[in-house]
Order: sequence, then structure tokens, then C-alpha cells
Amino acid sequence: MTSPFSRDSTDRFHDECGVVGVFGHPEAANLAYLGLYALQHRGQEGAGIVSSDGQLLMSHRGLGLVADVFDKEVMRRLIGDAAIAHNRYSTAGRTLLKNTQPFVVEFGGGGLAVAHNGNIVNALELRERLEARGSIFQSSVDTEVIIHLMAASTGPSLIDRASAALNQVQGAYSLLILDRNQMIAVRDPNGFRPLVLGKIKTAVVVASETCALDLIGAEYVREIEPGEMLVASRTGVRSYYPFPSAKPTRCVFEYVYFSRPDSTVFGRSVYQARKALGRRLAQERPVEADVVIPVPDSGVPAALGFAEEAKIEFDFGLIRNHYVGRTFIEPQDEIRHFGVKVKLNAQRQVLEGKRVIVVDDSLVRGTTSRKIVEILRQGGAREVHLRISSPPTIGPCFYGVDTPTREELVASSHSVEQIREFIGADSLGFLSEEGLYAFLPKPSSEGFCDACFTGRYPVRVADDGRSHQLVLFEVREGQRGR
Ligand code: AMP
Repeated sequence: MTSPFSRDSTDRFHDECGVVGVFGHPEAANLAYLGLYALQHRGQEGAGIVSSDGQLLMSHRGLGLVADVFDKEVMRRLIGDAAIAHNRYSTAGRTLLKNTQPFVVEFGGGGLAVAHNGNIVNALELRERLEARGSIFQSSVDTEVIIHLMAASTGPSLIDRASAALNQVQGAYSLLILDRNQMIAVRDPNGFRPLVLGKIKTAVVVASETCALDLIGAEYVREIEPGEMLVASRTGVRSYYPFPSAKPTRCVFEYVYFSRPDSTVFGRSVYQARKALGRRLAQERPVEADVVIPVPDSGVPAALGFAEEAKIEFDFGLIRNHYVGRTFIEPQDEIRHFGVKVKLNAQRQVLEGKRVIVVDDSLVRGTTSRKIVEILRQGGAREVHLRISSPPTIGPCFYGVDTPTREELVASSHSVEQIREFIGADSLGFLSEEGLYAFLPKPSSEGFCDACFTGRYPVRVADDGRSHQLVLFEVREGQRGR
């Protein structure tokens, strides 16, 4: 039996995404479009919107950033008072294929659309079972498994079918389902990925993060609870809890890196959480220095917290070019090295002759940090002390964050001292496992998934990581201008 962590990129998962849903608003698609803008950081590979006018579903999907996928003409066609939307995470190499969502199918006499953030860990097992019974798949994307399970169910309503389907699914999903009459928002019983509920007057809004609500002027109501299925229809909003209860294991990496700092995620401010992690890091890994600088943008709140706690001056020693994509997603090492230089430049005025503490949120492959240390030294820093506001990343994520293979995670096979040597810093310090929860009044890992840092996976990976060996199909639709 193959280990879930064996090489050949089987342990890469590519389903970190952002979702937005609007129900009961005359400008549903426009609001969903703006929501996608706010959630662009959650996915840059492709985007899509499906709207409903109570009769038909209208769909547009395409590759690229939200600004590239939609134009005025497209938006004019997305009519109706309900819409769901999806940003897909940008990934490397052969996986840069067209798996944009929402998926739309003809189903039981009407259209059905599904948008999914997360990763289903038993997708392949379910798919093999469905295929043996005659289901024909068009893609190898997890989300299609859910659609086939719904089609195979004999339940009388969409709610019954969705419940029956999702009760067979294991793993992470924050899911939006739209048909002519209703929008369903569901979160897996573990609540791995975030999903929040908001409103604009009587219209219901659902989004991965609150920053999407802010942009469209929606009022934040609450989190969609782990295991909750919220149904918005023309008769009102109702919640169901159709799954056996599970211990919530919300993703702590949303606080460390993934969510936007201006979002409230899992009921807490991401910005405050990151500052608290920086403060704790300063307590755990102090070092004498002249200046604290962040790796912008993700390291900024933690660096502020660090500087505050250490009582060392905070400054910007690295300036970021905001028009470059995330270097992390570049496929080859050489390009990634180049990418860091394109993205970050040293401020000699801040660094010259100084002992510098540079704070970043996470260390994954270590290649970015290595380049940053080099850039800082070239920029005149006398000493470079790298501090990371999370523990070493030792395991890939099976629940929806795009992480490299285990072998590529430098901390999975190297000690802190070996990593320090590799990146060329004068010192290197990570946050402790306990410190990772410093943002809580009573620090505790209870209720969180931190598998990427601890190797403790709360839900078994039933497919042994095989699902992503499949060749993904290409969706030839939704290019701009069509
Ligand atoms: P590296 O150690 O070179 O692999 O890259 C570490 C950098 O990537 C850090 O600055 C993080 O902010 C960023 N990072 C961490 N996890 C992810 C992720 N899942 N997607 C994109 N960037 C990430």
C-alpha cells in the first residue's frame, strides 16, 4: 500500500479556494463578483460565478484573476437574485489545468451548481464505487464526486440529497450549492475551512472570510457552524445539522498565513491573532538587535507584535512589488529564486550596518527565506536573525491548503540548525507548538487542526493521497471575450 506521503506529488492537494454566495438580492452576481475580488488571495488560478433567476442557471468560468475572467458583457448575462462564486487556488505545473468552479450540471429537471473549498480525503474511494455503478465522470475534481453522490441519492428534496451525499464524504468542505429555488451553504463537521454568514437587509450572504462581507456592505452575522447546513430559499432561512457530530478541528494555518488580516475567521480577528503570535515569538526566541522588519505582506502583523514585545524599533527593510504573484506557486526552483528578487527589494537606508530581526509567518521549503537572507545581507545588514511566527512545517495538508510534498518541506527532514545553515541566517527561531495558540485567552490546541506543524491528522486520509495522480480534464469554456 502506498504511503500517503510517498513522493511523485501524490501528497499535493490543490483545493484551497474562496467561495461567495448571495441569495435574495437583485444584484446577486455583481455582489458575488466583488466578493471574489476580496477573496482573490484564496485563489488565483481561475474564477467562476453561477447565477439564478428562479428559472435558469447562468454560468461563467475562466482561468486567471477575477479581473481577467469577467467583463461588463459577461456580468450583464449573469442575471437573477441568487449567485454562487468561486476562486480557485493557483498551483504548479501540470495541475494548472482548468478545474474552475462552480460546477454546473443538469440534474433532476433543473440545473444545479456547486462551489467547494476544501479537500475530500476519500474522494477516490467514492469515485471508484460510483464508477462501478455506472457513473461517468467528466473531471477528477473532488467536487464532482459530491454531485454524483447527490444524483445517486433517492431523497425527495435537494436538502435530503445533499445530506445523503455529504454523509459519505470525509475531509474538508465549505460548500455552496445553488439550484433554481435555493442556496445551500454547508460546512463539514470538523469545520476545517472557514465560512461566514452575513446579510444585506433581507438578502443572505455567505463567504469564506468576512473581508468579502465588508467590501459589499454586508453585516457579519456569525460563522456557519461546523456540521451546519444553512438553506436560504424564497420562504426564508433554515439551518439543519444532518451529520454525526465531530470534534471541530478548524485550520490554524488560516490564522498563521492564509486568511486576510482584516478578516474575522473562526470568530477571531486574524490581525490580532498574528500580532499575538509575534509577541509570543519575541518571548520565546529573543535576540539582541537594532531593528525588526517584516517579510511583507504576510509577516507584517507578527513583526509588529514582535517589535512591540521586544521593544525594538519596527521598520520596513524589504519593499514588496505588489504586481507580482505569489512566488510560492512557481513551478521550478530557479523561477522561484528569481521570483523572490522580483517581489522583494532591500532598503539600504534601514539595513546598513544593522543587526536585523526579520519576521515571516511560515517556513515551508526554505527557499524564500534563503533568498531573503541573501537580499538583506546585500542590502547592508550586519546580522540577520530570522524569526518564524509558526512552528516548522513538517507535513502536507490534506484538508485544503496547497502545500508541497513532504520531501520538499525542509523541516520534515532537517533540524533547526541545519535549516539555519541552509538559509544562511545568523540565528533562526520558530514559534513553539504551544505558542501557536498564543492568540487565545487560554492557549490550547483544542478545536484546531495543526497537522502541518505536528503531523497529527484529525481525519484519516482514506485515499492514501492517490486522488491527485489522476489526469485532470480541461474545461474549454469561459475565456474572456466569449
Ligand atoms: P518557502 O519556505 O520558500 O517555501 O516559502 C515560505 C513563504 O511562503 C512564506 O513567506 C509564507 O508566507 C508563504 N506560504 C506559506 N504557505 C503558503 C501556501 N500554502 N501558499 C502560498 N504561500 C505560502
